[in-house]
Amino acid sequence: MIYLKDVVTLQLNEKNCSGCGMCIVVCPHAVLSMNHGQVQIDNRDSCMECGACAMNCPTDALTVQAGVGCAAAVINAALGRNGACCCVVETPSDSENIGGKICC
Ligand code: SF4
Ligand code: SF4
Repeated sequence: MIYLKDVVTLQLNEKNCSGCGMCIVVCPHAVLSMNHGQVQIDNRDSCMECGACAMNCPTDALTVQAGVGCAAAVINAALGRNGACCCVVETPSDSENIGGKICC
């Protein structure tokens, strides 16, 4: 699955990668793979910027601007944390939406 082309913030600092493979285990979209003991980015545009790889990397080799859209909420819910939708906004009661919450 590709979301938007060439907008993903995922970055890999290959010099810092120890080849432990944790990022590959936790990535839900098979964005990463191992190549001769070092991770590489295979499908950048499939990255949903959930942040799981960077969060689990012991050497800070991966960075990503995580928490965009509902991805963080989905991951948190799967891990049993507070999974409230991060993009719910209140609409004004006098709008055409007759007030309430929407997910943008
Ligand atoms: S941010 Fe999420 S989807 Fe993107 S590479 Fe890391 S684990 Fe995979
Ligand atoms: S978790 Fe970090 S150190 Fe381990 S393979 Fe992935 S990028 Fe390399």
